[in-house]
Amino acid sequence: MADHYDLIAIGAGSGGLSVAERAAAHGARVAIVEEGALGGTCVNVGCVPKKVMWYAAGVAETLHDAAGYGFTLDGWRFDWATLKAAREKLIEGITGFYGNWMADNHIDHLQGHARFVDAKTVDVGGTHYTADHIAVCPGGEPMVPDVPGAELGITSDGFFELESLPHNVAVVGGGYIGVELAGVLNALGCHVRLILRKDRLLPTFDSLIREGLMEAMADAGITVVPQAPVQGLAQDDEGRLRLDCADGMCFHGLDKVIWATGRRPRTAELEPEKAGLKPDPAGFLRTDDYQETGVPGIYAVGDVTGRPPLTPVAIAAGRRLGDRLFGNQPDRHLDYQNIPTVVFSHPPAGTVGLTEGQAREIHGDAVRIYQTRFTALYHSFTDRNEKTAMKLVCVGNNERIVGCHMMGMGVDEMLQGFAVAIRMGATKRDFDDTVALHPTSAEELVTLR
Ligand SMILES: Cc1cc2nc3c(=O)[nH]c(=O)nc-3n(C[C@H](O)[C@H](O)[C@H](O)COP(=O)(O)OP(=O)(O)OC[C@H]3O[C@@H](n4cnc5c(N)ncnc54)[C@H](O)[C@@H]3O)c2cc1C
Repeated sequence: MADHYDLIAIGAGSGGLSVAERAAAHGARVAIVEEGALGGTCVNVGCVPKKVMWYAAGVAETLHDAAGYGFTLDGWRFDWATLKAAREKLIEGITGFYGNWMADNHIDHLQGHARFVDAKTVDVGGTHYTADHIAVCPGGEPMVPDVPGAELGITSDGFFELESLPHNVAVVGGGYIGVELAGVLNALGCHVRLILRKDRLLPTFDSLIREGLMEAMADAGITVVPQAPVQGLAQDDEGRLRLDCADGMCFHGLDKVIWATGRRPRTAELEPEKAGLKPDPAGFLRTDDYQETGVPGIYAVGDVTGRPPLTPVAIAAGRRLGDRLFGNQPDRHLDYQNIPTVVFSHPPAGTVGLTEGQAREIHGDAVRIYQTRFTALYHSFTDRNEKTAMKLVCVGNNERIVGCHMMGMGVDEMLQGFAVAIRMGATKRDFDDTVALHPTSAEELVTLR
């Protein structure tokens, strides 16, 4: 007879760990199936190692800026291998923590690949496990374009495996992963081209961020190449890569080409049809507001749902699902409105709520925009022409703030508090009535005219 659980979570990433944690805290008998490392994408090949690299890039920028503040540096050297080793040690510590944490919380760890047998049964390495509730949280994986020679390039996963800093790189893709990796490599001293299929990066973001970052990246030395759909990748006898794009555009002598061309959900390998699940044509398991897939007792959480692919979204949805199923909170679910997000670019950019374009489509002439663009005090003494820009999107007579978009030093840490205020329904007047913090960049947001 199969082992029976109250809940099986498939995937020990942000979503799976969170739903399991809550369910176990409410007394449920829980197992997590994971075929790779505990922690999933975020811990192993996503947010955590990426943020470490972003910090390293920030240190390089600060060293560069030091002269303006009167420091004479007697030369410095950056050792990629030292940073990589430290980063991997950090990650080992986190995954090790999760192993102990699962044991302490009486969550069974089923190591292996999960496949559905039916809507209540999961196969892991030939053993069958049944559950009243199954949370499908398999996340996603990087996609590479369907062009000749694509296998010569690497993805974000490969970026984290690099043993040394490449010298000459093309990053293909203008989503947040492409923008972030391009920024890190550039700041660490690599020559970077950012290749865009269309004419702009971060297409879902407000124009303030799209246009501001495009300019900032070019100022920082990145060659941003718009309108360059890739057609193929080839390697010469010396191992150098050549990237061919439309209209005869071609980039030679590259050490690495990084595909940042999107991610796809990992549903196919789950054999979802055996459980009656019907992924959409792109492979996502769409859910209602309660993470219900339409098959009773099967839920989907995290990147696999096609909702904003962010760790805190997967965590919040997972925790609320655990509370709803086992914590006697029948209406508990995640409100997917006003989710803040930050791009760890150079400078960082942050956004919450509606873009100006979205607000105008919904609210028409009732939209009022407040914005500013300035040089932060810090850059008075650096030779980097870096601007800070901020925009508030307000609606109606009381000027309720429905969107906040920022780019510049420190906005990554600034946004969280403003996101709380906006979620609570703050108006422009509330912002104006808040006494400013001086001297900061954040104060500009409460003094906008
Ligand atoms: C380079 C990069 C940078 C990112 N930076 C950020 C950031 O700064 N901030 C942010 O919020 N988000 C960031 N993200 C996104 C974030 O990592 C994801 O949104 C988050 O990890 C999604 O969690 P999840 O639980 O849905 O899936 P995952 O974390 O991907 O976890 C899924 C787990 O399921 C396992 N699995 C899959 N199929 C099976 C199976 N059949 N059997 C057993 N196990 C299986 C996988 O091995 C994996 O461990 C980044 C992502 C990338 C790639």
